[in-house]
Amino acid sequence: MQFELDQCLNPLHESPMAGQKDMAVKPLKVIVIGGGIAGISAGLFLRADGHDVTLFEPGHPDKGTSSGNAGVVSIASCVPTATPSTVASVPSMLLNPHGPLMIRWRYLPQLSPWLFRLLLNAAPWRVQHNARKKAALLDHAYQNYEQILSRTGLSHMMRRPGLLTVFETDRAWKRAQWIVNLIKSVGREIEVLNENEILQVEPGLEPIFRHGFLTPESGHILNPGKLMLGLHDAFRAEGGTTISERVLGIKDNQPEKVAITTANGEFFADRIVITAGTWSKQLLATMGIRVPLEAERGYHVMMKHPEPNLHHPINVFEDSMFLSPMEHGFRLTSGVELANTEAPPDFTRIRRMIPRAVRAVKGLREEQSRIWMGYRPSMPDSVPRLGAIPGHENVFVGFGGGHIGMTLGPTIGKITADLIADREPQIELTPYAIRT
Ligand SMILES: Cc1cc2nc3c(=O)[nH]c(=O)nc-3n(C[C@H](O)[C@H](O)[C@H](O)COP(=O)(O)OP(=O)(O)OC[C@H]3O[C@@H](n4cnc5c(N)ncnc54)[C@H](O)[C@@H]3O)c2cc1C
Repeated sequence: MQFELDQCLNPLHESPMAGQKDMAVKPLKVIVIGGGIAGISAGLFLRADGHDVTLFEPGHPDKGTSSGNAGVVSIASCVPTATPSTVASVPSMLLNPHGPLMIRWRYLPQLSPWLFRLLLNAAPWRVQHNARKKAALLDHAYQNYEQILSRTGLSHMMRRPGLLTVFETDRAWKRAQWIVNLIKSVGREIEVLNENEILQVEPGLEPIFRHGFLTPESGHILNPGKLMLGLHDAFRAEGGTTISERVLGIKDNQPEKVAITTANGEFFADRIVITAGTWSKQLLATMGIRVPLEAERGYHVMMKHPEPNLHHPINVFEDSMFLSPMEHGFRLTSGVELANTEAPPDFTRIRRMIPRAVRAVKGLREEQSRIWMGYRPSMPDSVPRLGAIPGHENVFVGFGGGHIGMTLGPTIGKITADLIADREPQIELTPYAIRT
């Protein structure tokens, strides 16, 4: 079957979400692959420019990684995964299969090219460099979120309470000073707190934390799954088309046109956007392009929220866990498990974290309702990849958000729409290009 996207288009469309009302945009047929936060944001910004947009997403919008995360719009989180402390924690990873960083050793041969690059990125100068690249994107995160949320009538889904990071021991706090300095160095606000101040800011915590810091600019999505459903509904209401099929391959071998294949045939377009999270790697492989993209897997459990509820999402530093008070319950999320996308989930570690959360939060009880696993799409340098693929100027990528992919989704979408509309993007994109 051959399929042509044939919606009726205005010849020239104004771009309200881009905030550039007078700028004429030539309407194009655009296929977006993947409906996580990056893909749906791209879809919405592209529709606002008047393009004929079809989104391919085989899954449910409220089940994937963009729904199960901690919901922190974490605009101060510039620290990459690869740091000297990550390297220092490798021995404990070996000894403790339930520590903050875990590797499923069976998958080591497959993971080793990514791990090798991760180690190269742990050099202190690279950490600084990668943090600055992340921070440049994070500079625009809030503004792009606000555009998406206000346009879709979903502004009530986000609060801005700040993110509180807490430390139980002097040792951990001392070791984390470079993180505090790094966050300051990229111009983010940070308030250092002592034992008493932590309890004033967050009275729902048990008095076990000796040190902490608040990054007050950070936001919090109250229910990421509900937000994803709302964004998908808005996309369709604004004339976007959703097709519930898995894309099997990408073809860029005809002048002017690009195509994707699914089990039902070929679909042609003027532009293709690859925002398939961790699975972007497989799609690029169908074009003969290899990228070192892997999943930093993570888990959550939902629990009944305590009375009174916490006011802030909390990063409990030593346990690598996030405590996230959401509208539909209390979400506890885990640190990183390294294995590939096919490996079955292992819920042992997140279950073991429940007593740690109960110990930290007043009135929290051990009853768990839902348990879940997701995939942070991560490059070894923790820097997302964005823009047209060199040599394939009609195919764009937007993946690699990693630990801050929920924060950066709308920014990935906005930059992609700007490029497709031939507008100047918000930042210089050379550092985010993929190499072919
Ligand atoms: C436990 C945990 C906690 C987290 N907490 C936070 C947080 O607090 N703040 C934050 O900013 N980030 C957080 N993250 C990271 C964030 O959730 C991810 O980086 C982000 O959701 C990735 O979005 P995405 O759109 O790039 O990918 P995804 O959400 O993975 O979306 C990709 C989509 O592509 C689809 N797809 C795959 N293959 C194909 C194909 N062949 N054809 C068509 N479609 C396809 C998939 O079905 C999927 O829906 C967390 C992640 C985890 C796991």
